[in-house]
Amino acid sequence: MKTASATADQSSQADAPDPARGSAIAKNNWLVLARIIIVAGLDDLLFVPFFLLEHSRAQAAMNLCSAGLYALSYNLLKRRHNRPAIMLIWAEVFGHATIGTLLSGWESGYYYYFLMFVPTVAISLPRQRAIILIGCLWAYFIALMILGATLHPLAPINHTALLFLQGYNVTVLIGMVTYFTLMYRRLAISAEQKLKRLATTDPLTGLFNRRSTVEMAANCVAAVTRGGGDLSFILADIDHFKSINDKFGHSAGDAILTAVAAKLRELVRAQDVLARWGGEEFLVILPDTPIEGAAELATRFQESLTAFNLQIGEHRVSISLTMGVSTRAPGESFDAAVARADQALYRGKELGRNRIILDTGNTAPRQDKDTAA
Ligand code: GH3
Ligand code: MG
Ligand code: MG
Repeated sequence: MKTASATADQSSQADAPDPARGSAIAKNNWLVLARIIIVAGLDDLLFVPFFLLEHSRAQAAMNLCSAGLYALSYNLLKRRHNRPAIMLIWAEVFGHATIGTLLSGWESGYYYYFLMFVPTVAISLPRQRAIILIGCLWAYFIALMILGATLHPLAPINHTALLFLQGYNVTVLIGMVTYFTLMYRRLAISAEQKLKRLATTDPLTGLFNRRSTVEMAANCVAAVTRGGGDLSFILADIDHFKSINDKFGHSAGDAILTAVAAKLRELVRAQDVLARWGGEEFLVILPDTPIEGAAELATRFQESLTAFNLQIGEHRVSISLTMGVSTRAPGESFDAAVARADQALYRGKELGRNRIILDTGNTAPRQDKDTAA
C-alpha cells in the first residue's frame, strides 16, 4: 500500500530540496580523490624505467616509494580513514618535490608542486593559520631554490631528460590547478544555487515562497504595465484542512499539502508563478491571461482534485479547494488585486466551499501611465 508520506516524497521531487544530494556530492569527491591517487601512483611507476635509463637509481627508488605511499593512502581512503589518507598524499607531494629537486636540480621543475599547496592551504585552513603556513612554504621554497642553485644535483640526469622532466612537471601542475579550480567553481555554483533555492522556495512543497513571489509579482506587474495584456490571480485554499490535521495528524496534513502542490504544478504553464501563499493557501499568478482563462484553469484544478485522494493509513482522504479569481485592473497594485481574489475566496467559503468565485467588478482607479486594457 502506498503511504501518504511516500506519495508526498515522489510528488515533491521535481523542485523540493533533496537532502540526499549533499551526501552524493561528498561521495563523488572521495571517488575523484581515489581516482587521482591511482593516476598519481601509476604515473610514479611509469617514471621508474625512465630514471633507470637515466642511470638515476635514487630517483627510481624514490618513485617506487611514492607509488607505495599512494597505494597506502588508497587503502586508507577505502577504509574511510580519510584524514590520514589526505595527510599522506600531501606528505608524499612535499617530500617528492624536495628530494626530486635535490637529486635532479632546480631545473627539474619539481618545485612547481609546491605551488599546489598555496590554493589548497588558503581554501582549507582558517585565515590566520593559512597565511602563516603559506609564509613558511614561501620561506622553504626560497631556501630550496638557493640550495638548488648553489648545490650540484645529487643524481643528475642528461639535459634532454631534464627538459622533458620539467615540461612534464609543469604540465601536471597546470592540469591539476585547472582541474581543482574548475571543481571548486562547480561546487561554489551548486552551493549558490542551493542557497537561492532555499531562500526562494517553501521547504515542504518546493513551491515559491511568499517573499520570492512578491518579488516576481512586481516584475509581472511591470511587464504588463509596459506591454499590456491581462494579469490574473487565483487564490486557492484547501477546505476544512484543520479537521484533516485534527483527524489524521500533522504529518498527514503535510503529505496532503505536498501532493496538492504537485497536482497544481502539473496544470500550470511555465510562465505562471505557483506559490505557497500561506499555510494551506496557494497563489497562482497568470501573466497574459484574462479572467476567463484564469477561471478555466481554476476549473481544471477543481476537476483534478475531485478525482484525487490520498491513502492515509486505512482511510482514503479527499479534499476540495475554494478559489477566488481576479484580474488586475489598470494601475492597480499587486496587493490590491490579490486582496480582491481573497475577498472572492472568502465569499466562496461563505457560500459553502468547493467552488470558484470570480471577482469581475474591479474598481481600481485608472492611471495614465498604465497601458493595460
Ligand atoms: P476553511 O475551509 O475555512 O479554509 O477551513 P480550514 O480548516 O482549512 O482553515 P483554518 O484557517 O481554520 O485552518 C487552517 C489549518 O491549516 C490550520 C493550520 O494548523 C493548518 N496548517 C497551516 N500550515 C500547515 C502546514 O504546513 N502543515 C500542516 N499539516 N498544517 C498546516
Ligand atoms: Mg482552508
Ligand atoms: Mg486558509
